[in-house]
Amino acid sequence: MKRIAVLTSGGDAPGMNASIRAVVRKAIYHSIEVFGVYNGYQGLIEGNMQKMELGSVGDIIHRGGTILRSARCEQFVTDEGQWKAIEQLKKNKVDGLIVIGGDGSIRGAQKLTEKGFLCIGIPATIDNDIAGTDFTIGFDTALNTIIEAIDKIRDTATSHERTYIIEVMGRDAGDLALWSGLADGAESILIPEYTESFEEVIDRLQRGHERGKRHSIIILAEGVGSGFNYGKRIQEATNMETRVTVLGYIQRGGSPTAADRVLASRLGAKAVDLLLNGKNGRMVGLQHNAVIDHPILQVLEKENQLNKEMYELSKELSI
Ligand code: ADP
Repeated sequence: MKRIAVLTSGGDAPGMNASIRAVVRKAIYHSIEVFGVYNGYQGLIEGNMQKMELGSVGDIIHRGGTILRSARCEQFVTDEGQWKAIEQLKKNKVDGLIVIGGDGSIRGAQKLTEKGFLCIGIPATIDNDIAGTDFTIGFDTALNTIIEAIDKIRDTATSHERTYIIEVMGRDAGDLALWSGLADGAESILIPEYTESFEEVIDRLQRGHERGKRHSIIILAEGVGSGFNYGKRIQEATNMETRVTVLGYIQRGGSPTAADRVLASRLGAKAVDLLLNGKNGRMVGLQHNAVIDHPILQVLEKENQLNKEMYELSKELSI
């Protein structure tokens, strides 16, 4: 192992930079050269890569986004695209590749592994929707961004008698909604994993109203549907003034939290260690605060489990 490459792919997530930094520094620490590939798999196919030095990753640990930029690439999904990528890696004398991204990106790494190229995946997505790790890089930052926004909405909410619906990201996963709802004491948390009947939500709103609550907050995961539609239904059913906020892309940006920087650093370093030990087709992760790795195939086959105990707790605390 003389030279490795690193890329970021799919949706960006805060902490990707901290992860790139860890990969580059750890590799150089072990006297291995590192190439940074620009624009994800698209750049890989085009051979858009450059040698990185210690200084290339200076002053980025605290920055959101990714200095290597990210992209989605249709061509890479085909065998032909994957062979082109391998050709470029070989041409540049790269012995192993580290892919930082969401489940789609890690699936891509698995494809290269199956074609005989050494690859390791690092899970980075705000959605926390990948099995085999308790947390993905970016989740904690997005969560804190959501909390900050809800706290602000709560300030104005206490001045008016209203119901607030806040739509958060997460794709098909309810983690961002569940964690932010629990952290912010929301009245109802609507997530794709468990269905709560509309009547139950209305009941809870009315019970709160009857005991003098001046406002209610409902967190809705984007995987459940549109916040605006839901708000309309709530207003019609309760006759209470209802406001909807779709937090959108602010959830993807910002300076990574300490937890994300530390996670990104630990996972980045572990990925390099695995390549140094000749490991292939593995995804690194964190479980019970230990850095671990699993075969990518095994991780992708497993359904990500939402924490049911936390969901039950959120209901108990919002009676
Ligand atoms: P994320 O990594 O955030 O989940 P995507 O699902 O869009 O984002 O995946 C990012 C890129 O990874 C895709 O544009 C594609 O190039 C590659 N990719 C995704 N799924 C596969 C697959 N099944 N096989 C090969 N490459 C894939």
